[in-house]
Amino acid sequence: MAPRDTRIAIVGGGIGGLTAAISLLQAGYDVQVYEQTRLLSEVGAGINIGPNASRLLIRLGLGDECAKVAFRSPHHHQRRWDDGRTLARTPLGAEIEAAFGAPHMIFHRGELHSILARAVPAERIHLAHRCSGFEQTGNGVRIKFENGVDTGADILIGADGIHSTVRRFLLGPEPLRFACRAYRGLIPAEKVPDIPRESTSWLGPGRHIVHYFVSAGRMLNFVGHVEQEAWISESWTEPGRVEDLRAAYAGWHPQLQRVLDAVEETFIWAVLDRPPISRWTYGRVTMLGDACHPMIPFMGQGGAQAIEDAAAIAACLLKCGDDIEGALKLYETVRLPRASKIQTGSWDNKAKYHMVDGPGQVARDAQLAKGASNAYVHVDWVYRHDAGALKPAEPASASH
Ligand SMILES: Cc1cc2nc3c(=O)[nH]c(=O)nc-3n(C[C@H](O)[C@H](O)[C@H](O)COP(=O)(O)OP(=O)(O)OC[C@H]3O[C@@H](n4cnc5c(N)ncnc54)[C@H](O)[C@@H]3O)c2cc1C
Repeated sequence: MAPRDTRIAIVGGGIGGLTAAISLLQAGYDVQVYEQTRLLSEVGAGINIGPNASRLLIRLGLGDECAKVAFRSPHHHQRRWDDGRTLARTPLGAEIEAAFGAPHMIFHRGELHSILARAVPAERIHLAHRCSGFEQTGNGVRIKFENGVDTGADILIGADGIHSTVRRFLLGPEPLRFACRAYRGLIPAEKVPDIPRESTSWLGPGRHIVHYFVSAGRMLNFVGHVEQEAWISESWTEPGRVEDLRAAYAGWHPQLQRVLDAVEETFIWAVLDRPPISRWTYGRVTMLGDACHPMIPFMGQGGAQAIEDAAAIAACLLKCGDDIEGALKLYETVRLPRASKIQTGSWDNKAKYHMVDGPGQVARDAQLAKGASNAYVHVDWVYRHDAGALKPAEPASASH
């Protein structure tokens, strides 16, 4: 069967679903995207896209569009919460591009999402289509939507995020895992004129906070993560109180106080994930992105891994020709170990970033300082990977 005769239904029009649509359309497949919302848009603020994902966006022909809106920070500066001492300063500019052959880009999420949406023909995106279930037939899948539509496809890809319906149909109900509370928001750049134009994180006991510019430098995005026993609200995102945000970082470094003084509005989020699973593919149904490997944002890789999935799924289908089920199994084989390792590594980073002051924190600071002689020692295995090449996952011993 030629690619153009293979009908692929993607449920979910987020970063992962849209990148998969672009990759599969460029490979010649007949793709339809079904999105539950009435308007294709993204919530949230900033997103880091490292070289492992930017090389894939560039390969899809989106490099120029990305360059227009991305912020290119010269460094990521990790600092101590009270005295502001430098713990590590990782180059993110020309050096990272030279090391990995692709840039590090920071986006406003809505702007990245718009670039992806514009690259998919409008007639292939079906809004207000909330998937309610599916059924595998002999050699295809029937997909049902809450609006009464019922459609057939040769392949179903669940790209429907952490609350995935496709996953619930495959695995049944599963609890979410709560990690911490996050305060997020944006500040117009003119309100913080003396804040260095570099991505910065402040690490302290039980919490940390990151800020970086987005929208080609016009806005400063901040995300503050604060440990909390459990999430007590019904909603996973809601308006937050600026005074609570300031109280959470009271006594931290004066430069951070100038950022917090400029905040007018903040939202609080429950940072959630699920543990890694051993299987993503069931016959002609598979999943990608947060649907199969939701991760907490402590490696900044959730969206990047969804983009990697998209590239790999297209490469596997092209490689396996008519063997669709074999292609989807190959996709799981090449992707699952790496994404699982990043899910686990993100929790390791949470523990590292939130250490109380003491011997553990001193050892952590010494480990971070290793970056002074080899800037990418902790992230080389993440950034060097080319998901389109379908290489086996890195050995489990690689450090993160
Ligand atoms: C605070 C924070 C900071 C982050 N920072 C980074 C970062 O710096 N770098 C990075 O790479 N990642 C980051 N991430 C992670 C990243 O945001 C996610 O991993 C990424 O958005 C996942 O993309 P996705 O397409 O898989 O899912 P989503 O973006 O959740 O998209 C899923 C889509 O499916 C739709 N949908 C859901 N259910 C249905 C249904 N039943 N029928 C039809 N449509 C449906 C939804 O409306 C949505 O449009 C961060 C996350 C958080 C919370």
